[in-house]
Amino acid sequence: MTRKLAAGNWKMHGLKADLAELAAICAAPQPGCDVLLCLPATLVHRGVCAAEGRIAIGGQDCHAAPQGAHTGDISAAMLVDAGASHVILGHSERRADHAETDAMVAEKARAAQAAGLMAIVCLGETLAEREAGHTLAVVGRQLAASVPEGADPARLVVAYEPVWAIGSGRTPTEAQIAEVHSALREGLARRFGTGAAEQVPLLYGGSVKPANAAAIFALPHVDGALVGGASLKAADFLAIVAAL
Ligand code: PGA
Repeated sequence: MTRKLAAGNWKMHGLKADLAELAAICAAPQPGCDVLLCLPATLVHRGVCAAEGRIAIGGQDCHAAPQGAHTGDISAAMLVDAGASHVILGHSERRADHAETDAMVAEKARAAQAAGLMAIVCLGETLAEREAGHTLAVVGRQLAASVPEGADPARLVVAYEPVWAIGSGRTPTEAQIAEVHSALREGLARRFGTGAAEQVPLLYGGSVKPANAAAIFALPHVDGALVGGASLKAADFLAIVAAL
């Protein structure tokens, strides 16, 4: 059984005053699952210090190169140096805003794992792809191409985030989430073998809220969530953590 993971993604939200929310999350009784907050790069080190090991802290992107002339970018080693343990890669907002391809995401995941980070590889279909009946083909292709050759399944998390569910208040039906997660588990099993594939946490992301978390977490092959908006306020995020 994979240990469950509640991961928050603060996106481009958060000034140091907002670490009060992180402090409130850390002050809650120790949950029965792993808790991670992926903070903006400027808050990673402060977040690590404030968390005092009670929750894990991650980044939201890294460059594929270990270092170099890449103004404004952040390497995986820099995140490790700041105390991060995880990094989100290939989020649909990065794929859209920065034209990141599956191949680029795979290179970043390779760099993240080489630096010792857990790589959270995000994938998911657009509404047009879902309506055209292409969901399983799209996520299958993304899984195959965004997880690099030679990836270490023990340092991998996969997050299924339908693009149309992110920040929209809309979620797929429970059957639709279960269908995709079981296809992802099968894809991982073909790649890494059944035993290793079962250890890779499969997160659902996209409009996870306190009201829908328990039903989503009850689905087979759902090992946790990647939570955007509802991770910004401790009360909401803790309610989701409690449902896991
Ligand atoms: P949301 O975002 O929970 O605000 O829909 C999820 C995500 O983008 O990771």
